[in-house]
Amino acid sequence: MAYDYDLFVVGAGSGGVRAARRAAQAGARVAIAESDRVGGTCVIRGCVPKKLLVYASQFREEFEDSAAYGWHVGPATFDWPTLIANKDREIDRLETVYRSNLAKAGAELIESRASLDGPHRVRIERNGKTVTAERILIATGARPNPHTALEGHELCITSNEAFHLERLPEKILIGGGGYISVEFAGIFHGLGVDTTIVYRGREVLSRFDMDLRRLFHAEATNKGIRILCGEVFEKVEKRADGRLLAHLSGGGVEEADAIMLAVGRVPNVDGLGLETVGIDLDKRGAIPVDDYSRTSVDHIWAIGDVTDRIQLTPVAIHEAMCFVDTVFHDRPTKPDYDKVATAVFSQPEIGTVGLTEDSARERHKNLDIYKTTFRPLKGTLTGRSDRMLLKLVVDADSQIVLGAHVLGHGAGEMAQLLAIPVKMRATKADFDATMAVHPTASEELVTFSAPAERVRNGETLAA
Ligand SMILES: Cc1cc2nc3c(=O)[nH]c(=O)nc-3n(C[C@H](O)[C@H](O)[C@H](O)COP(=O)(O)OP(=O)(O)OC[C@H]3O[C@@H](n4cnc5c(N)ncnc54)[C@H](O)[C@@H]3O)c2cc1C
Repeated sequence: MAYDYDLFVVGAGSGGVRAARRAAQAGARVAIAESDRVGGTCVIRGCVPKKLLVYASQFREEFEDSAAYGWHVGPATFDWPTLIANKDREIDRLETVYRSNLAKAGAELIESRASLDGPHRVRIERNGKTVTAERILIATGARPNPHTALEGHELCITSNEAFHLERLPEKILIGGGGYISVEFAGIFHGLGVDTTIVYRGREVLSRFDMDLRRLFHAEATNKGIRILCGEVFEKVEKRADGRLLAHLSGGGVEEADAIMLAVGRVPNVDGLGLETVGIDLDKRGAIPVDDYSRTSVDHIWAIGDVTDRIQLTPVAIHEAMCFVDTVFHDRPTKPDYDKVATAVFSQPEIGTVGLTEDSARERHKNLDIYKTTFRPLKGTLTGRSDRMLLKLVVDADSQIVLGAHVLGHGAGEMAQLLAIPVKMRATKADFDATMAVHPTASEELVTFSAPAERVRNGETLAA
């Protein structure tokens, strides 16, 4: 049977755009449908605009600190509409780049919602037409969990709306303890908003190393962010004067101008027509796939956040490249999820790769833990008490560095570079054989002399 396309991609986000471009460059006839803006979450309402807001929120401390270095800066004022307008202009520019890259590669962009209408059939919702494709790739991403079980959830915002608030609130409550919650807490706090995180767990950032989590909590609190752990919103309501009231599980009631929910993301599968082809969802509502990103239907693949493997842009892009290699270059390639480095653009920032100390303890009997906490040089003149943490988790038997964890300025950039030796299974001796770059904070990573902790047969010994 002759199909209209060799590949139909549903969703023009990080994963979908990369797959469409690469497949088209390989000679395939490709169409890609997008129901919103081209670029997806990362470009339009995720990584990129978020990082721009993080930059904006860091100037206040810089202005304050500059005095100790001899600068006299006049009274600083901040204008939220200017920031949002400039951010939007940059996002428009990036969207244009994405569109033109698709066009240059020869992929046809269909600006419409699309759904499956049979094994090889895709319905274009904009005009009700159906097209056929030999293969289909679902790359529809995820969206913020609206937490509909919470009474008053409709009064709350999510990260989507946070990028377009008309006015900066005076006080905000952020529900959730993941990276989106702590990043936005840093943004709002830095811009002068009274900010409180409300998190049901024992400590925020549950997937990260415990030393990082504890120090992050202490440092963020020191900066003025309130963090309430072991609490959830029980009800949100609006007062007659428009202010919001959040009733907390501990019995307290908090007043705020805005309440943001950052309590996870749900895969975008609604109305996708998965039932017409017999694809069932997994327990988390994601599309299950095999090691090559193939769904239970032979010619339908899924990549990125909709599969809920690791919800990060570089991972979605990597899955897209593996898909194209497997399907269009006859090189079966499984995505590699081993030692995925990641950053949290919180304040202070976090960068991490490999095993946390706790997960290393589950897999290895003997460990050497190297860590140091110190006040960076820049803070010596300003009196700012911010501390930095650098930590290596080393397998004591093989001396291989299993994990590297950083909290403090430049942690995200360090994580990218640390990912190379950790992925290459470098040993502690390889780190030590590397000449230090002085004076830097990261030189501590190659000058650790003795472990802060030794774990032998699962028991922690005094250093
Ligand atoms: C606030 C925030 C900050 C983030 N920060 C980072 C970060 O710093 N680093 C990082 O690596 N990751 C970050 N992420 C995660 C990252 O954005 C995602 O992992 C990534 O965008 C996933 O790519 P994707 O291709 O799977 O989906 P998406 O980029 O979400 O793209 C999916 C696209 O499909 C479209 N779509 C959905 N359904 C249909 C349909 N039926 N028909 C047509 N189109 C459809 C959507 O409109 C969307 O454009 C962040 C996410 C958020 C929300």
